[in-house]
Amino acid sequence: MARVLIVGAGLAGLSAAIDASANGHHVVVVERSSTIGGRGTSQNKEGFSLTFGPHLLQNKGPMWELCRRLSKRKFSSAAIRLDKVEVLGHGMIRPKGNISRVVENRRALKSKDQSHPIVRAASFLTSWSPDYLGRIETLSKSKLLVSNEGWIGLAGRLAAALDEIGVLIECNVKVESLHNYGVKLNNGKKIEADVVILACGLSKSRQLLAEVDQQRTEQTFSGLSKITASIIEVGLDSKPLRERQVIIDTDNHTTIVDYTAIQSRLSTHGSHLSAITVGGLKIDKGETRFESQEDRMEYLESFLDAQASGWREHIITDLRQEKITIHENLGNEIDGFAFSDKGIIMAGSWVQSDFILADAAVHSGRIAGKNIGKAQH
Ligand SMILES: Cc1cc2nc3c(=O)[nH]c(=O)nc-3n(C[C@H](O)[C@H](O)[C@H](O)COP(=O)(O)OP(=O)(O)OC[C@H]3O[C@@H](n4cnc5c(N)ncnc54)[C@H](O)[C@@H]3O)c2cc1C
Repeated sequence: MARVLIVGAGLAGLSAAIDASANGHHVVVVERSSTIGGRGTSQNKEGFSLTFGPHLLQNKGPMWELCRRLSKRKFSSAAIRLDKVEVLGHGMIRPKGNISRVVENRRALKSKDQSHPIVRAASFLTSWSPDYLGRIETLSKSKLLVSNEGWIGLAGRLAAALDEIGVLIECNVKVESLHNYGVKLNNGKKIEADVVILACGLSKSRQLLAEVDQQRTEQTFSGLSKITASIIEVGLDSKPLRERQVIIDTDNHTTIVDYTAIQSRLSTHGSHLSAITVGGLKIDKGETRFESQEDRMEYLESFLDAQASGWREHIITDLRQEKITIHENLGNEIDGFAFSDKGIIMAGSWVQSDFILADAAVHSGRIAGKNIGKAQH
């Protein structure tokens, strides 16, 4: 049995804790903020479960599987419908009464022809990148879901399972540095551990590892980039998107999702719009891109004005983030065990995995938790 210390109670950290504990290790999780779930959570406000931007769940993916397996109580989920997804300038992905367009779009999605606007839009919605085709089938095969309990409910299932098996999660505790005995916290306390799992995001992990082995850290983390997004989440007492569940503006990397239109059990009110603009903005026909988050936010608001007319007058509650990291290393090249000889394993959406986003976080966390022995001295 090893003493395992997990840094970060996001989806990767919680998943790692579940598997490490199931494999007989003594596990403690520390989290710098006051809440668990990291970016994969939501807050219940005025009858809405507000997330950090649109979060869509892959049916039977690692996150879905783990949540299902951990609790007998099933959660219900509803899939996005292709006849309710509008790609701006190109109509619905499956337009009613237009058989030839339905056939053309279905063919394009099957062939993953990246020059086709529907394929690029589908790729954006499924991965938040118009160039990543690896998850496109989740949309075309109706596997892109919204659950009825919000992401706080899903992260809560992981936390409840940990509580049941007696794993301690300490919030408001920040890890400052790594040492051969374990970690040092911001309150000066030391925690001894045989194995440390870094599930605290790419930037913090890199910073902590640089003090352990600068050269290897530079090599391991070289050439990586992160993609940020701006988001607006609003709970409304109106339904401004009418029949649409999702609107995608691929050129400007912008989307509005109406969670309530997809999963009616999420709220009894009008609609829950989750709007996102990712990365730079293509403002004109040239390649001028504006990276400033203020520009992004302004564009997002004007997009909502154009597509969800009157939304400002119907706000019950809202949550905005001008800048949030959506992808740290979409290519997933970093080996989670690159520092295992030092008793350190890495987990997170940025660690090598066959999956992306929350599924990569959960998958890499579980792999870390199952393989503590690889890092034990
Ligand atoms: C706008 C947006 C939309 C998204 N959409 C989707 C989607 O549709 N589908 C999907 O599957 N995924 C989506 N994601 C991605 C998903 O939210 C993330 O991939 C996932 O939550 C990452 O989990 P993680 O555990 O790797 O990292 P994080 O959630 O970042 O967790 C890291 C944790 O470590 C803690 N921490 C950091 N430093 C320290 C320290 N020094 N000491 C202690 N704790 C520390 C942080 O507070 C945090 O809780 C989206 C993300 C965003 C931002």
